Amino acid sequence: MEHIFRAYDIRGIFNREISAHTAAKIGIAFGTYLDGEGKVLVGRDSRTTSRILESAFCSGLASTGVEVYTTGMVPIPVANFKTLKGDFKAGAYITASHNPPEYNGVRFRREDGTGYTKENMEIKEIFFSGKFKKANWNEIGEIYRLSSEATIREYSEYILPKFKPEKKLKVVIDPGNGTASLTAPYIFRELGFEVVTLNSQPDGTFPGRESEPKAENLRDLMELVKATGAHFGVAFDGDADRAVFVDDLGRVVQNEKIGITVAKQIIAEKGRGKVVANVECSSIVEEEIAKAGGEVVRVRVGDVFVAEAIKKHGAVFGMETSAHYFYPEFYYFDDPLVVSLKLAEILSRSGEKLSKIVDDIPSYPKLHENYPCDDRIKFKVMEKIVESFKAQGYSVDTTDGARVLFEKGWVLLRPSNTTPLIRATVEATTQEELNNLAELVRAVFKEAVREMS
Ligand code: MG
Repeated sequence: MEHIFRAYDIRGIFNREISAHTAAKIGIAFGTYLDGEGKVLVGRDSRTTSRILESAFCSGLASTGVEVYTTGMVPIPVANFKTLKGDFKAGAYITASHNPPEYNGVRFRREDGTGYTKENMEIKEIFFSGKFKKANWNEIGEIYRLSSEATIREYSEYILPKFKPEKKLKVVIDPGNGTASLTAPYIFRELGFEVVTLNSQPDGTFPGRESEPKAENLRDLMELVKATGAHFGVAFDGDADRAVFVDDLGRVVQNEKIGITVAKQIIAEKGRGKVVANVECSSIVEEEIAKAGGEVVRVRVGDVFVAEAIKKHGAVFGMETSAHYFYPEFYYFDDPLVVSLKLAEILSRSGEKLSKIVDDIPSYPKLHENYPCDDRIKFKVMEKIVESFKAQGYSVDTTDGARVLFEKGWVLLRPSNTTPLIRATVEATTQEELNNLAELVRAVFKEAVREMS
């Protein structure tokens, strides 16, 4: 049961790990955390079980005295936007993001629409302590229903005037039967783009493709971009907080390259700026952002941490390897739709092809490996690894796990929170250098384990 409470959200298989009963109890725990006061905005994704969980969650929440406003099925950035613009104390959203259709869960938001970090652990503690706030019958909260159409209109009216594309490009949009179906095609059309859609009816069984927008799930999009001669394609995940792009040649573009292209333009407009990138991002981010006169701040993995760093450093853009993009001129939470509109504007004004832009940025070979490591010694092994690299004179950044810098590459080692594994990411400027680095890291890991046993 405890494992459904994760660092950034709650997620599990419906009626096996998370039921209507659990959702009501999560609502009560959340309301207790909020002292049974204030207004909360609740949204949901297109999953078949989202409405059930929403009803149960809202009932639990209102029973603590919190006033609940539901806005139905909308993308999570739209729900975040409504939370930010209204006088809400917090927000919540029913989703399992890109997981398979049998999963569902809850994500909590702050009053500015960004996600909870350490607060998630406090809610978990309340959930398991059973010390719940119970309002008297005459002090319970009301459950109000807001129209999803009106919320989406409010969102559209906020973002539309901020884009001025010149040439009207052709774009293929693949919401993957998720919530982006309700916004992306309409907003692109409203700006005058020619839109071709794929999997653009909300359907919680995800009949078109798996909800995760990764290359192997995007073959139809790649084909359709080529077949229609579109300028680019974009695919969203179920709750529409991640987007992956396909260039005019039908190739999936490395996420960092989209981030770099948009960030460079924003830096050019502002004359300067900091860009937040998580520790997994390629070193092309530093190289390319420096060329544009910007500066990169590295943070630990997790969209909620990127948002916190953007606020702290006054950054103009944020990105993650997992295709979360942040454009803080709009708000601090991530919204891939405004980033895809910015990309469309850049292409329409410059007349350049996306394939040309991405090929002008170097591509470095990268590999991911998992080292099995007993949970009882996992964190000690990590300490040994850090000591070993430091003793060899390498610079080690411990923002999130250990990121070791080499002359022609870097290595990131992160202990898994949920499984007995240490995950390694290695990137180098050449394949040969990549093999050497991978070899070296395996040896350091083995030595650390040997010392422990
Ligand atoms: Mg998501």
